[in-house]
Amino acid sequence: MKKEIKHRQEIVRFGKLLHERGYVAATDGNLSVRFGPQSILITPSCISKGMMRPQDMVVVDLQGRKLAGWRNVSSEIAMHLLIYKLREDVNAIVHAHPPVATGYAAAGISLNPALVCEAVIGLGDVPLAKYAIPGTPELADTLAPFIPHHQAVLMANHGVVTYAEDLPRAYMKMESVEHFARIALVSKLLGQQHLLTADELDQLVVARQKYQRKSAHAQALVFSP
Ligand code: 13P
Ligand code: ZN
Repeated sequence: MKKEIKHRQEIVRFGKLLHERGYVAATDGNLSVRFGPQSILITPSCISKGMMRPQDMVVVDLQGRKLAGWRNVSSEIAMHLLIYKLREDVNAIVHAHPPVATGYAAAGISLNPALVCEAVIGLGDVPLAKYAIPGTPELADTLAPFIPHHQAVLMANHGVVTYAEDLPRAYMKMESVEHFARIALVSKLLGQQHLLTADELDQLVVARQKYQRKSAHAQALVFSP
């Protein structure tokens, strides 16, 4: 099992990437990792995700009670706790405001993976959850119906949340959502969206299962420190 300090360093590393890629501005976004049966490491509230240090993180239990850290916990703690509660397979969460995917969320449009085969394989549907005020339990509630069956959700008039078994994969889901949103936007600007057929989609779902088995091993090698 990875030591706590490695998780802290990994949150710093992926926070910096979110910032460098323009998926967050100012103090937007938050990241967390579940480590051990009762502990969650999460970014503090109101900090630039590009300028964090390992010692800035806050540790909470699965009920959100603070166990360690001198800063205030992220205002989106309720959303993180809900995802961990509903998904035992999930150990990391990334929330950001990437401009194109958030543009779709602000326009009230979900992302249809049938536009691009890689989106079907890597992401599946990216639904749109209703608007709720950031940092409230209501925001977590609007996401609840989507969490069990999806890996990425658009949050209306707000941003995106992605989650996976570890932080590198949760971060890469965020990259994939934004990349796919850009492709969807270009096809919209070109004036034609040629969707994959139902048969083609079925074949991709089979391909996805094979691909996921192969890539699990490859990714473990790429991301081991
Ligand atoms: P925090 O700084 O409290 O984590 O909030 C950032 C954010 O994106 C709220 O939705
Ligand atoms: Zn936000």
